[in-house]
Amino acid sequence: MYRLNDKIKDLKPYDPVETRYRVHLDANESFLSLPAGILEEAKRELGEIAFNRYPDPAAKELCGAFAAHYGVEAEHVVAGNGSDELISVIFGAFLQKGEAFATVEPDFSMYAFNGALNEARHATIGKQADFTLDIDKIIETCHNEKVKLLIFSNPCNPTSLVSSKEEMRRLVRSVDALVVLDEAYMDFSSQSLMGEEDAFDNLILLRTCSKAFGMAALRLGFAVARKELADALRAVKSPYNVNTVSQTLGTIVLRHGDALEEARRELLASRDELYAGLEAAARRFPGRFRLLPGETNFAALLLPDGEQLYQFLGERGIAVRYTGGLVRVTCGRPPENELFLEELTAYLQN
Ligand SMILES: *Cc1c(COP(=O)(O)O)cnc(C)c1O
Repeated sequence: MYRLNDKIKDLKPYDPVETRYRVHLDANESFLSLPAGILEEAKRELGEIAFNRYPDPAAKELCGAFAAHYGVEAEHVVAGNGSDELISVIFGAFLQKGEAFATVEPDFSMYAFNGALNEARHATIGKQADFTLDIDKIIETCHNEKVKLLIFSNPCNPTSLVSSKEEMRRLVRSVDALVVLDEAYMDFSSQSLMGEEDAFDNLILLRTCSKAFGMAALRLGFAVARKELADALRAVKSPYNVNTVSQTLGTIVLRHGDALEEARRELLASRDELYAGLEAAARRFPGRFRLLPGETNFAALLLPDGEQLYQFLGERGIAVRYTGGLVRVTCGRPPENELFLEELTAYLQN
């Protein structure tokens, strides 16, 4: 009888939260879908697609639109079927048998997952008590453990904290490893190294259209790196990884920088409102929880009874995440934030 091997036999499919919740603040998605004007344009363009033909393997127009939006070189940009796919491609290609990768915990769980699937050695580095990065410790571990691939998110999911450009430059320069800087939330912050990729021979930046740009359904992620690394990624990814519908819609949306900026502002306003509500709750119930000073579209709460709060909210139809010892709450529409804050208050009153 055929038996699954050890590395996959206990794996379970990724399980997003069920639909019984009335408010979804668990996945860090945008609460805004695409604007009506853009959808009209998209419908017209969809009519022009040759559905019988394979997609453009280089996703040229899409990568060009991304590059133009951010002011980077088009040849530095590689498109993926979500940045999740790019993470998987990077682990499969840039790590050889038996080599080590490092993560800084807590962080996005897909890094460790992909490392395990590739049977790579995992060096885990802890964060400091306040969840910031200890850059010297990371550098030291990379040297001591002969780390070939260092991957972490900045701003960090789940802590919401951002590390400065200066710290990131120093880190990337100080290690021999390939550094994969996952900037999935950088549209909510200002510390991106994008545009500086040519200055580092060991840096790949990851960006996504799933968070600030409200296109999680299309699965669009991007890697940005100097030409040699970008070429290597293009050579190892599967040729038709981004389908033509996603390429077409993504290109249209990325060419509407004004609409993207408007959406970003609306998300930031919701974020500020959520944080203001949380700060007020922290003052009203001193010592019950700590709000981390985030620069993302979610808030990270630290409290000893985090899991209880997570369950309490779930029972009242509000989905949040409990991960890495933190309660992670995505900013939602204003009434969704209010519902969450009301239930949080109810919990803290007990
Ligand atoms: C959401 C998220 C991603 C995944 O983005 P996709 O492009 O939707 O695959 C990657 N990294 C981090 C840190 C995320 O939070």
